[in-house]
Amino acid sequence: MAKPLIAGNWKMHGSAASATALASHLAQHWNASATPQMVVFPPFVHLADVKRALSGSDIALGAQNLSQYANGAYTGEVSAQMLRDLGCDYVLVGHSERRAVFAESNETVAEKFVAAQGCGLMPILCVGETLQQRQQQKTLQVVAQQIAAVVERAGQENVCRAVIAYEPVWAIGKGETASPEQAQQVHRAIRAQLGDAGKTTTLLYGGSVKAENAADLFIQPDIDGGLVGGASLEAQEFLNIAQQLIEQD
Ligand code: PEP
Repeated sequence: MAKPLIAGNWKMHGSAASATALASHLAQHWNASATPQMVVFPPFVHLADVKRALSGSDIALGAQNLSQYANGAYTGEVSAQMLRDLGCDYVLVGHSERRAVFAESNETVAEKFVAAQGCGLMPILCVGETLQQRQQQKTLQVVAQQIAAVVERAGQENVCRAVIAYEPVWAIGKGETASPEQAQQVHRAIRAQLGDAGKTTTLLYGGSVKAENAADLFIQPDIDGGLVGGASLEAQEFLNIAQQLIEQD
């Protein structure tokens, strides 16, 4: 069985005060004995404050990005080891906003994936197709290529040890969600691509997940949790989404 996970990507939102308040609220209200792992991804500059606010809770900390390089003259970059030093256990790799806005290629994503695992960070590898690619019926091909590029560099076993998030680009931040059937079809294909070792790989769905649509997604056999953007900025909404995952267990 794959381990269930609920992840909140705060993107480039908030202040030190609001990030601390959000983390404190989650820490107070998230039941430590609940089965799904909860992890939040604040902006880099709020990681230390959020770590403090989460102390004593079971909520894990993650970063939204990392450098593919270990150290050196890379102005503005943040290495995997720096994230470990700040108390991160997780890192997003290949989020569609990184791929589209910051031109991260499949190869760069694969290098970041390897850098993360090399320092003991759990990568959440984000994959997904654009609207145009879906309309051209290239969804499964695009997702398979995104995963294959990482398998080529990191190896199949290492990809299977990570978390993979299927996030259709057309659904992210748009209020549009893939139907549970559309999401399950892609998740099933990912599971098949990973082979035997992928039976226990945690596969998340992301793309406008809210409390009202979460249950129908989480009940799908190959969906093990969610990567939540906008709705994770509201503590109670995020807790309500997490509750839907507990109820599927
Ligand atoms: C995301 O940023 O990974 C995401 C899924 O965003 P949203 O939930 O806002 O669509």
